[in-house]
Amino acid sequence: MDEIKECNSRNIPLPIQREVRQRCGFGCVICGMPLYEYEHMEEWAQVKRHIAEEITLLCDQHHREKTGGLLPKEAVREANSSPFNLKENASKPYDLHFSGKQACVEIGGNSFTCEDQGYGTAMAPISVDGTPLIGLILADGHFLLNLVVFDEVNNPILHIKNNQLFYSTEPWDIQLVGTTLTVREAHRKILIEIDFQPPNKVVINRGRFLHNGVEILVRPTNILITNNATVLQGCHAHNCSGGLLIGYHKHQIGGFMALGGVSRYLGDRKEALKFEKECLAKDRVLSSDSN
Ligand SMILES: [Zn+2]
Repeated sequence: MDEIKECNSRNIPLPIQREVRQRCGFGCVICGMPLYEYEHMEEWAQVKRHIAEEITLLCDQHHREKTGGLLPKEAVREANSSPFNLKENASKPYDLHFSGKQACVEIGGNSFTCEDQGYGTAMAPISVDGTPLIGLILADGHFLLNLVVFDEVNNPILHIKNNQLFYSTEPWDIQLVGTTLTVREAHRKILIEIDFQPPNKVVINRGRFLHNGVEILVRPTNILITNNATVLQGCHAHNCSGGLLIGYHKHQIGGFMALGGVSRYLGDRKEALKFEKECLAKDRVLSSDSN
């Protein structure tokens, strides 16, 4: 314990914050909420030190309850030893506040805008093999954001389903600070960074969308599909049902760029081919039914 010096700053060093987030499953240890504060389990005035094991995560409500005495210290310690999100292997769903009759998503300087045209208008700015990685639904004054982020081994690790955000506890780091959600694969390695600008805008300028052996790299001024070195720069999609469509799509949707036969990265290629075969087989069954 010699190396632990008494510390006069209440600011917790960033590496310690990250260690606490990882240990607590990126959410309040009691309820899993992705908005939280760092809470010293020992009284700060007494210990005056920052040790990851002595710090936990509490959301506003549970922090207030603890400070006010309604939530006993022992309950916090118990939750700290078995955090909510780690038990569930997912964060508690959090509702994003999107609304309005129009929506805008900016991805690497390309814009995708959509206005409510009645009957639940839908748009898929990026879709791979029939899976919209980003989808917008506009209905009755509501803007519903849908998004899924896959990791390198094709596991979905972050979802937004009709504005409800939740994530797996598997990634190296996930952080929602202000309006910015950042998922990191490793130190200094961002998988994706999403800036929510409610009521009706989302901006993604850094990261990678991965699915079935396709890699879509997002940079501040363009999108690069690394499989075939296709670059999208300054594209604007307005009121169309699709944007960038890669791979096989059973339901024909119009987009400004449709890339059917994109070669896949090894390892996932088999999955993609299997998927395409299954879809084609289903199509054949459906069309022979209708004949
Ligand atoms: Zn809580």
